[in-house]
Amino acid sequence: MAGASFASLAHRAARREASVTVEKQVDGPAPLTIHHLGDQVLRQPAQRVPRVDHNIRQLCRDMLRSMYSAQGIGLAATQVGVHQQVLVIDLDRETPSTPPLVLINPEITAYGASVDSQEEGCLSIPGVYLNVVRPTVVEVKFVDELGRKQRRKADGLLGRCIQHEMDHLNGILFVDRVQDMEALQQELHHHGFIPSAVHAVA
Ligand SMILES: [Zn+2]
Repeated sequence: MAGASFASLAHRAARREASVTVEKQVDGPAPLTIHHLGDQVLRQPAQRVPRVDHNIRQLCRDMLRSMYSAQGIGLAATQVGVHQQVLVIDLDRETPSTPPLVLINPEITAYGASVDSQEEGCLSIPGVYLNVVRPTVVEVKFVDELGRKQRRKADGLLGRCIQHEMDHLNGILFVDRVQDMEALQQELHHHGFIPSAVHAVA
C-alpha cells in the first residue's frame, strides 16, 4: 500500500474497470456464439443503449474476444444475438497495444459524394467474399466505452467497416447489397448458404 493513497487506488481501479482492452491473441473458445446467415436473429434491429455502464463494457470485452478468436476486424452486437447498438472494430489486430474502437449508438451524419466497390467478408457468412458498392467517406457520431460523445470522419477500410457493422444493427447483411447476382449465387452455394436467406436492399 506504500505510496498510493486510497483515492489514487480507487482511481486506478475505476480506470481498469473502464478499459475494454483485452488480449488480442485469444486461446480457447470464444465467449459468445456468432450467428450465421439464415438465422433470424441477424434480421432484428438493435435498440439504442440508454446508458454506458459496466455491463456494456463487459459486452464489449466479450465481443472483442469473440472477434479476435474468429480473426475478424469488426463485430456488431446483433451478430452475437444482443440487440443493442454496440460495435467493436480493430483494424490492427497484429499490434497488441493498439486499442480497439468501440462505437455505441452510432449514427452516420454525412456521406461523401463518391462511392467505390471493394470486397467484403463477414463473420456471420464465413468463407463468402464479394464486392459491395458503398460511399468512400462517412462522418459518424457515437458514444465510446466511457460514455463520451465522439465524432469522426472515416474513409478507406475503416469507413467501409463502420458502414458494414452499422448495417448489422439494422438487420442488414453485406450480401443484401451485392449487385453481381451470379457471383452472389455461386459464392453462397459454394459455402453452403441458401440464396433465400438474402434480403436484397434497393
Ligand atoms: Zn458482418
